[in-house]
Amino acid sequence: MKIIAVGRNYIDHAKELNNPIPESPVIFMKPDTALLKDNKDFYYPEFTSDVHYEVELVIRICNEGKHVSKKFAHKYFDAIGLGIDFTARDLQTLLKSKNLPWELAKSFDHSAVISHLVPKENFENPQNINFSLTKNGKTVQQGNTKDMIFDIEALIVYISQFITLRKGDLIYTGTPAGVGAVKIGDLLEGFIEDNPMFKTEIK
Ligand code: ZN
Repeated sequence: MKIIAVGRNYIDHAKELNNPIPESPVIFMKPDTALLKDNKDFYYPEFTSDVHYEVELVIRICNEGKHVSKKFAHKYFDAIGLGIDFTARDLQTLLKSKNLPWELAKSFDHSAVISHLVPKENFENPQNINFSLTKNGKTVQQGNTKDMIFDIEALIVYISQFITLRKGDLIYTGTPAGVGAVKIGDLLEGFIEDNPMFKTEIK
């Protein structure tokens, strides 16, 4: 499986990092070795001193899809979860300043926290889901999927023009505003509506 992630998909987050509002989705990938499941601890990597959390709604692909049309895009995902796109912000900023790909700042081991996945049918409208992240019990990020610049179906259409989607692939759909740094000892907990989805302690 592969992990496809979307950058700058919420206007308020693009603005907080002084990035322009994108005209088409900003796409990057993480390897499967990035996954961090089952509420496991996150070990602070040595190559960075500025790891940021980014809470994101995650969808699971359920069909092989190439050049998916808008009309059928809803048939290509079957489950929804919540995750964190951990980012080594210092490394990302350095790479961006050199106009280099920021892959390593996003794709390192355990940079993709993932919750259990919930069948799509359990949600009345995937494009109206509240989600949030707390750090040490205090809410640091809150979003609603209605505020995505490119909605889930648009992402499936766009990505599948370039990359074949396969059953089991995950798409991290972008983070709302409020990203910030973690330090050793912090506890991060993610929620969809009021339901606890994941937790991870920084070690
Ligand atoms: Zn992200």
